[in-house]
Amino acid sequence: MVEVTERPQILGDRRQGTAHAIRSVGVIGAGQMGNGIAHVCALAGFEVRLNDVAAERISEAVATIGGNLARQVSRQRISDEQRAAALKRINPAKTLDELADCDLVIEAATEKEEVKRKIFAAVCRTLKGEAIVSTNTSSISITRLASATDRPERFIGIHFMNPVPLMELVEVIRGIATDDATFEATKQFIGKLGKTIAVAEDFPAFIVNRILLPMINEAIYTLYEGVGNVEAIDTAMRLGAHHPMGPLELADFIGLDICLSVMQVLHEGLADTKYRPCPLLVKYVEAGWLGRKTKRGFYDYRGEKPVPTR
Ligand code: NAD
Repeated sequence: MVEVTERPQILGDRRQGTAHAIRSVGVIGAGQMGNGIAHVCALAGFEVRLNDVAAERISEAVATIGGNLARQVSRQRISDEQRAAALKRINPAKTLDELADCDLVIEAATEKEEVKRKIFAAVCRTLKGEAIVSTNTSSISITRLASATDRPERFIGIHFMNPVPLMELVEVIRGIATDDATFEATKQFIGKLGKTIAVAEDFPAFIVNRILLPMINEAIYTLYEGVGNVEAIDTAMRLGAHHPMGPLELADFIGLDICLSVMQVLHEGLADTKYRPCPLLVKYVEAGWLGRKTKRGFYDYRGEKPVPTR
């Protein structure tokens, strides 16, 4: 992990406005991704304010981060001093107004466009003018989300992978209006987190999910059509394609609601029937079986060992 010990370099392009140094980061949404983002930012030395519409999600996230940092200490990845310092840098923000003086805001709330648009409109009302606003969306157009803010030129996609503390890649996506200074400041920020960047154009689902989610959707079709059961499909892809996790196990890990919404964005955005979401995926989501986070998906996680549900 990279420790921020010195004053970050100020990058800027005079023609397009000047980027400011990022010291404090506001994270909106304290779910699976928000807690990981808060974790890596705090460990890299940034002051973090963590917001969620549900107050209990913030305290749950801080507890999760504490546990994950402790695991990193036990694996000798970080020292106990780094763990304690990182935890101290994370402060709960019960309202979006408490993010007013953050240098960068990262939105990691539920993958619904209307939810995100409302958040951007609300946070921009009090956020300082020079702050950069970003989204961790897996699939929604950055240009369209930028239009819900008062600063499309200082709006950018910063797409972390799950689990954030372990995954090395971050996709960076510029909207049509994103200026060079924001792009440079974002790349510098991600570098400080010790992550590698892949720049993607603003097309539905960007790079990783454009390739990964149709594969998961196809695995669900394979299950739906009875070609194999859950265990056979996951074993086949683990041992036959050398994937570290089977596609159905991975779908449960990502969250079936997220998988469905990415497929819907691909289907609508690219208008190609090859992206149609599998009806079985829709059924699981309608049942509220969203994977690990609800303890049931393609596997049932309520017992000691995950058990296939089909
Ligand atoms: P999640 O359901 O675990 O967490 C979402 C959180 O947002 C919840 O705690 C919810 O209470 C909160 N929230 C909802 N409305 C809010 C509001 N108005 N203000 C503040 N908080 C609000 O979801 P997640 O998996 O963490 O996904 C979050 C975002 O990250 C989504 O945009 C998703 O597409 C993206 N993403 C997810 C993954 C993944 O593998 N899960 C990977 C990359 C990106």
